[in-house]
Amino acid sequence: MKYISSLVLAVLLTGCSYSSSTQSGSVGADRKQMMIVSSKDMREGSAKAYKQVLSDANTKGILNKDKVMLSKIRAIAKRLIPHTKVFKKDAPAWKWEVNLISSKELNAWCMSGGKIAFYTGIIETLKLNEGQIAAIMGHEIAHALKEHGRERASSQAVSNMGLGLLQKSLGLSQATTKLAGMAYNVTVGLPFSRKHETEADRMGVELAARAGYNPLEAVRVWQKMSKHSKGAPPEFLSTHPSSATRIKDLTKYSQKVMPLYKKAKK
Ligand SMILES: [Zn+2]
Repeated sequence: MKYISSLVLAVLLTGCSYSSSTQSGSVGADRKQMMIVSSKDMREGSAKAYKQVLSDANTKGILNKDKVMLSKIRAIAKRLIPHTKVFKKDAPAWKWEVNLISSKELNAWCMSGGKIAFYTGIIETLKLNEGQIAAIMGHEIAHALKEHGRERASSQAVSNMGLGLLQKSLGLSQATTKLAGMAYNVTVGLPFSRKHETEADRMGVELAARAGYNPLEAVRVWQKMSKHSKGAPPEFLSTHPSSATRIKDLTKYSQKVMPLYKKAKK
């Protein structure tokens, strides 16, 4: 691992692209990213990991139990998804899925390729209204659009020097299993970096605004989170750090996309 690493790295980097995974939108989401893991592999891994999450939840009897809440979050997704084209032309045609898990956890996420999960805990505990659910969903969708999971998997592949060789040396199904584990980890298991959070915040408010949701609801969400977190912060908060800086940035970008909201409301 130590001294062969430069050779392995060279092999891995052959297939690496270094460009922005999205168009810029109004909020300027055009940061260039190093990608080694392919989009296709990420989506296949995510689809598999997502299926596993749903099947586990189903076994526990906590999948899509609250039909009213489920149809609410699905309706919100339906309004947001067409606007993903602003950042990624093919995204509206992804195989989107939206499911609800009954759990006290303050959590929500979107895996590569548009596989969304909401936990009842975040909606109930923070008493989120529709616009606030849309704000969180827009943020999570933005992570998937900007392919933050893929970007992190790519840096992991470089640091582990493993993935490319793994895929070559293992049969496809085993490789897919590894990818599923990786897709799960980079979406659900590990915290996103500050850089990714800020990017998802900005893209999220634009998605919400274009779908006709007041972008300022995102600010209210983080104020609620911040209030709720007094004492021991919930897991969702520790991975999505709330701070004065974040609220300030969200306020600024909410104002920036306000004309899009006003136009959508007409
Ligand atoms: Zn996030």
